[in-house]
Amino acid sequence: MIEKLVRKNILELKPYTSARDSFLEGILLDANENSLGSVIRDEWELKLNRYPDPAQNEIREKLSKYLGVRKEKLFFGVGSDEIIDLLIRIFCNPGKDSVLITEPTYGMYKVACDVNDIKVLSVPLNRRFQLDITKIFEIINRTTKIIFLCSPNNPTGNLLKKKDVIKLVKSFKGIVVIDEAYIDFSEKKSFVNDVANYKNLIVMRTFSKAWGLAGIRSGFSIADEFITNLLFKIKAPYNLNKFTSNAILNALSNIKKKDSFVRKLNLEKEKLTEQLKNIKQIQKVFPSDANFILFRIKKATEIYNELATKGIIIRDRSNQVGLDNCLRVSIGTPKENRIFIKTLKEILK
Ligand SMILES: *Cc1c(COP(=O)(O)O)cnc(C)c1O
Repeated sequence: MIEKLVRKNILELKPYTSARDSFLEGILLDANENSLGSVIRDEWELKLNRYPDPAQNEIREKLSKYLGVRKEKLFFGVGSDEIIDLLIRIFCNPGKDSVLITEPTYGMYKVACDVNDIKVLSVPLNRRFQLDITKIFEIINRTTKIIFLCSPNNPTGNLLKKKDVIKLVKSFKGIVVIDEAYIDFSEKKSFVNDVANYKNLIVMRTFSKAWGLAGIRSGFSIADEFITNLLFKIKAPYNLNKFTSNAILNALSNIKKKDSFVRKLNLEKEKLTEQLKNIKQIQKVFPSDANFILFRIKKATEIYNELATKGIIIRDRSNQVGLDNCLRVSIGTPKENRIFIKTLKEILK
């Protein structure tokens, strides 16, 4: 029963009812908006003087068609980062409950827990960056409400094994969130269709990576209707603004463009992987199902700093669990990648 996992105050919460919950059209004299218009030119004819649709209807309908998932299971957040925070606030009682993460992984799960005063339990991924199921079941306890998984995982780049994830979803009594920010870059299947079978499974995706829309701040979740309704219940009424919603509608009409980006970036990734493998000081280049590559190199932090001095900014991940001397590089344009490799080789000479 998912209901038992929800914080009491959230279950009992009477949500704010916004003016635009009831009416989006008509002679709108209910929300104290400016009926004369906006001070800026409304180039896209979005009626910027009016609040956006709190129910996110248009974008949810369009996404529903793209994913083949019922609209009732879809929720948009101001980036997946907002969804992470909302989920923690729905299920975890501050000062009491805990969340499990499997490190090394995306840093926001822990930050969102810290902000909400939620204890973080951490089980390291194994040497192949896969889940240590036995250890996870040893560590979780009655206070553990959510397990955050990331596949393809940031910053390691690998997918988690499907059967491990499903095992967790089946046997864990709490919520399992699988963050698929990078799934577009992978040939393997998403967990989106598994949501129909498991009420405690939540899939998160984002427009920030493959779609090239990090600037609009939007991610979405696919989850059982009960959970999706709770997300709507506690979100800020107008979380998705009209510029962002308009960009999402445009994006979902340009799926081919996204797919072509993915093909190009994946080709570049293959090239870059080979080039990194041919540098003798590099001890390991990890395989990647995402749009970045993790590699291990002696004196990683020094090399990171030298690259930065030369204007090439990658990410030093060497302080993360199990990632000593590891750097992460995002796939750039062909030219950027050439300059990166050339500069790296010069530094190593
Ligand atoms: C980049 C990234 C996101 C994206 O977050 P947004 O808030 O949607 O931009 C989510 N999860 C992971 C693991 C990421 O690397």
